Amino acid sequence: MVHVSFPYSAPVSQTLFDRAAAVTPGGVNSPVRAFRAVGGTPRFMVSGTGPYLTDADGREYVDLVCSWGPMILGHSHPDVIAAVQEAVARGTSFGTPGEGEVALAEEIVARVEPVEQVRLVSSGTEATMSAIRLARGFTGRAKIIKFAGCYHGHVDALLAAAGSGLATFGLPDTPGVTGAQAGDTIVVPYNDIEAVHEAFHRFPGEIACVITEASPGNMGVVPPRPGFNEGLKAACAKNGALYISDEVMTGFRTSKAGWFGVDGVRPDLMTFGKVMGGGFPAAAFGGRADIMEHLAPVGPVYQAGTLSGNPVATAAGLAQLRLLDDAAYDKVDAVSEQLRGLVTEALSKEGVAHRLQNASNMFSVFFTDGDVRNYEDAKAQESFRFTPFFHSMLSQGVYLPPSAFESWFVSTAHDERAIERIAAALPAAARAAAEATEPTPEPTTEATA
Ligand code: PLP
Repeated sequence: MVHVSFPYSAPVSQTLFDRAAAVTPGGVNSPVRAFRAVGGTPRFMVSGTGPYLTDADGREYVDLVCSWGPMILGHSHPDVIAAVQEAVARGTSFGTPGEGEVALAEEIVARVEPVEQVRLVSSGTEATMSAIRLARGFTGRAKIIKFAGCYHGHVDALLAAAGSGLATFGLPDTPGVTGAQAGDTIVVPYNDIEAVHEAFHRFPGEIACVITEASPGNMGVVPPRPGFNEGLKAACAKNGALYISDEVMTGFRTSKAGWFGVDGVRPDLMTFGKVMGGGFPAAAFGGRADIMEHLAPVGPVYQAGTLSGNPVATAAGLAQLRLLDDAAYDKVDAVSEQLRGLVTEALSKEGVAHRLQNASNMFSVFFTDGDVRNYEDAKAQESFRFTPFFHSMLSQGVYLPPSAFESWFVSTAHDERAIERIAAALPAAARAAAEATEPTPEPTTEATA
């Protein structure tokens, strides 16, 4: 039983949710949006401006989800909107090459030094799926290593996060993924370099790549321990495997050059999405030119997309990236730091055991007093405290990710007024977390989007 009261209703959202449920499984097009982990009515948003979202009932929220990362300049940034309007007036899709995609590729290559060549796709899932295929095609090997708690989109082979012991074969996490699809995936605990060495030792010459979130944000924010990414890179190099850094979430968010700009560890391949699309479906994978040249039409590894490099999406992404200079990152980092301070102050005042973890401006709250180094640690938190905390914030006009296992995202648009509103909401939410006693049902760690 979850004892959470929903202090106000959202009748228009509820009506829309009922309509949606009749025609769409669970009423949503991506599971986490359904509020299953926290209960209550998902808010149907109708508009966004700066740090605010407005729902179908006319209520305004300070947005700490930012569309799960992309909206780093806030909603409806005038320059991004202008670029989109200018692009859309020229047509929406041509199915031919266009200058916008060249410019976006050039911008990515200029920012992220290990990316010598890049291919544009439409979602982070497509980017990681294509990078894995390329790694297998390039190395002629089948097996891949991934980490428990890392999410790389709903790629069949990557929907295997279960695992115990040091290195186990992944079991499919979902019906519809066959043992064969997941059977070449070796799942190891995050931040455990020994487990990676053991996997390479067990399967010599068979592992095509290690894929890791550059700094994980999908089990809450769990940064790599010092030296972990370097260790991965070295293990891959020693064993003839490729090191794939998934920067779909961290790319162009944690710094101008994403997490690579923070730790400087040079991947063989990288994946991007979210921020680089400016709120549109644009994503990418790229890296060493000698690997990328294995892609069709130059090489034998097939990969394609009707809407890849879409002119409207690339215009939005390019406009957003061009606004993301050092000052913009300074601002987002400062907002994040201020908020982390406010959250920890409110929770400490109420005596709630918690831990704030961050990777640059990405951060999340774990209801535990221990260090969170991996998925097991993350799952051990008192996540039942999150539900009343979440609903208290929501009822006071602050929109948090509806799950205890997600990063919170801020933007350059989060100004003093928005922060004051969050600060005013936190004491009651912290009290609700302190008073929580009943465990909620098993929390979900559904994918973001
Ligand atoms: N990789 C990471 C690290 C992600 O966080 C996500 C989505 O949240 C993906 C890949 C998949 O991206 P998309 O939802 O655009 O398919």
